Amino acid sequence: MPSGSPLQEKLKVCIRAQGPLTIADYMTICLHDPEHGYYRSGNPIGAEGDFVTAPEISQMFGELIGLWCVHVWLSMGSPAPFRLIELGPGRGTLMADALRAAKVVPEFLAASEIHLVESSDTLRSTQQRTLARCGPRLNWHQNLMEIPAGSAIVLANEFVDALPIRQFVSRGDRWFERQVGLDNVEQLCMIEEEVSDQDAELVPEPIRLSVAEGAVAEVRPEVRDLLAALVDRSLDYPLAALILDYGYGDGSTRHTFQAVRRHRYADPLIDPGEADLTALVDFAGLRSAAADSGLNAWGPIGQGAFLIGLGLNERLQRLLAAANQQQQLDLVSGAERLVAPDQMGELFKVLALASPGLSTPPPFEDASKDEADEA
Ligand code: SAH
Repeated sequence: MPSGSPLQEKLKVCIRAQGPLTIADYMTICLHDPEHGYYRSGNPIGAEGDFVTAPEISQMFGELIGLWCVHVWLSMGSPAPFRLIELGPGRGTLMADALRAAKVVPEFLAASEIHLVESSDTLRSTQQRTLARCGPRLNWHQNLMEIPAGSAIVLANEFVDALPIRQFVSRGDRWFERQVGLDNVEQLCMIEEEVSDQDAELVPEPIRLSVAEGAVAEVRPEVRDLLAALVDRSLDYPLAALILDYGYGDGSTRHTFQAVRRHRYADPLIDPGEADLTALVDFAGLRSAAADSGLNAWGPIGQGAFLIGLGLNERLQRLLAAANQQQQLDLVSGAERLVAPDQMGELFKVLALASPGLSTPPPFEDASKDEADEA
C-alpha cells in the first residue's frame, strides 16, 4: 500500500510520466485538484482550519473596507448598477461585514450586484450561507473574465498569495528553475532544471540584470492575466481594485514559497493537498506591472496604516461603547492583531488600483501627501 496523501501518489505518477513539475503546476494540482485539492476538499480558514485571515479576526476589517467601497463608488459618480466583485471570498465574512457597514448609504446597496470569484465548491456553499440575507443577489464565477462588463469595485484579500509561482535561480550566466521531481527512493524532492532563454525572460529585466549568484527570483505568471482582466474592464467603465495580502514592497527577490497547516509552517512537499501553499506577494512588481498596463496605482502601504487611515480607532471606540466586557477584550485584541507592526500591520500590505480619471482613494491621499512633502 503506498503511504502519504492520495495526491502524493497522483503527483508521482504524473512526474514519472511527464518529468518534473514547475512549482506553479505543483501548486495548482495541490490547491485545485478536483478530487483531492486543498481548496476543493475542506474548510481551511478559521481557528478550526489551517490559517486565520483578517476578516475572521475582526468585523472592523470588512466594515472599513465596506465604507471604502461606498466612498469610491460615490467618487465614480454613483453608477447604478455596478459590480461589487470579490476574488477568493473564503467564508464570505469580509463581504458580509462590508455590506452591513455600507447600509449607511442605501443607494449603494440598491445599486450593487455581488460577483464572487471562487474555485472551491465547499467555500461557495459557505459563502452562500454567510451572505444569504445580505440583500443583493449573488453570482459566482470561475474567473474575473467571466463577469459582464460594467462599473466595478474589486476586492482581493489573501487571494494573490494563492496564485501559483515559479522560482528561477541564477547560476553563472544561465538560469535554472526549481521544480518538483523524484529522488532515488521515489520521494518528491526539489530539483533544478536549466531553462530556455524564453522562460528566463519571465524574470523581470531589472532583477535579471542585478540578481546575485544563487538568489531565487519568484514569478507569478497569473498576475499578468489578472491585470489584463482589470485593464480590460477599465477601458469603458470606471474600475477600482483593492489588493490586500502579505508581501514585500522593496522590489527585492526572495524565496517565499511556503506551506501552512494547522497554523504552523510545514514542508510544502509533505502531504500535498493537505496544507495551504502560498508565496508572498511582490507588491513593487505588481504595482509597476499595473502602472505599465495603464492603471493608476497607490501604495503599497501597511495594513496598519491603511486601517487606521480609514478610521479604525474611531470605529473601535464606537463599538466599545456598546460592548460587554468580553466583547471589549475581543475587539481590542482583534484591532491590535490587525494593525500592530509586529503582527499583521506591516507584513500585510494594501495596494489600490484604478482606471485613469478616478480620484485618489482613501487613505492614500495621506500617503501621496507624505510623498509630496518628502520630495
Ligand atoms: N479572502 C478570504 C479567503 C482567503 S483564502 C479571507 O480573507 O478570509 C483564498 C481564497 O481564494 C479561497 O476562497 C480560495 O478558495 C480562493 N482561491 C484560491 N485560488 C483561486 C483561484 N485560482 N480562483 C478562484 N478562487 C481561488
